[in-house]
Amino acid sequence: MTTPAPRPGILDIAPYVGGEAVLPGVAEPARLASNEGALGASPRAVAAYQALADRLHRYPDGGAEALRAALGRRHGLDPARITVGAGSDELIALLVRAYAGPGDEVLHSRHGFLMYAIAATTAGARPVAAPERNLTADVDALVAHATERTKLVFLANPNNPTGTYLVRDEVRRLRRDLPGQALLVIDAAYAEFVARNDYSAGDDLVDETDNVVMIRTFSKIYGLAALRLGWAYGPPPVIDVLNRVRGPFNVGAAAQAAGIAALEDQAHVDAARSHNDIWRAWFTDQVKTLGLGVQPSVGNFVLVSFAARAGANADAAERFLKSRGILVRKMGSYGLPDTLRISIGLEAEMHAVVAALTAFLEQAA
Ligand SMILES: *Cc1c(COP(=O)(O)O)cnc(C)c1O
Repeated sequence: MTTPAPRPGILDIAPYVGGEAVLPGVAEPARLASNEGALGASPRAVAAYQALADRLHRYPDGGAEALRAALGRRHGLDPARITVGAGSDELIALLVRAYAGPGDEVLHSRHGFLMYAIAATTAGARPVAAPERNLTADVDALVAHATERTKLVFLANPNNPTGTYLVRDEVRRLRRDLPGQALLVIDAAYAEFVARNDYSAGDDLVDETDNVVMIRTFSKIYGLAALRLGWAYGPPPVIDVLNRVRGPFNVGAAAQAAGIAALEDQAHVDAARSHNDIWRAWFTDQVKTLGLGVQPSVGNFVLVSFAARAGANADAAERFLKSRGILVRKMGSYGLPDTLRISIGLEAEMHAVVAALTAFLEQAA
């Protein structure tokens, strides 16, 4: 027997390992490992999803007309410049597949979202990591690492897992100083959580240029991760390319219907943002009080460092939290070994994490 061989490079990919979701023996663990919206989906989105139950034999609208129109209304954007994906993960993969291949480079910052390097390797392109400064993307370093082979530059803004962001003017400077052939992809998965005057999700830069695309998701503040729904806003030629390479029915009908309903419930989004503001600030303070390092975050998660605590380390803390029914994310695969990324959950969950961290540090001391 012979085992068919995949294309060169495929077996070099370390499969993406998502945040843990189950804990043997614990019926309802506190799931703080995947940045899923703490408040869950809008009841209107849930109702729209359920309303589709007797129409499961129908194909979805391949053009996602109503969803794109709703996105256009909500964000003040031209629906013709929007396309949709099965989560922004699919859009990342499609962009890489369409624009990069063997001999090409895909640039990202050192602690950027892992899917960029995975997608690049899958397409046969070479992922290139530029160093960061203070766990923040560094425009000068990114520009210095760009070459004539760079086809895509991925910037998660804010970044997961660091929670840091680049101000609008820095992103504009990045675009200005990168080579023109490199498509800048601004991944604004957490944009709705950011309340800073100097921040932009990137749609203004899309409008000003021919080589910037913004990708967004319904998996985070909208709480629809199970449905896999993302979207891209870009120049018409880029959207045209994405529409050619995506599957004709890549986004299911339930995802489209729930997405439209979620967009119509901005009160739910506002509640989710307020909840996150309150509990991120509270949790950040508590972690500091415990003597742990914490990176100021504008997302719905916080990167906690154990490096300054003798006798304590992130792996032991992660196991201890698990023993208390709490799942968080280890960061070794991101090159951040002595840290944990902890999502902002419900009030009771945040109290439980602080209590568990307190107990962990007492027994570690
Ligand atoms: C969660 C996340 C995504 C993926 O979102 P999906 O739409 O669920 O695929 C993309 N980019 C970043 C930075 C993320 O954290």
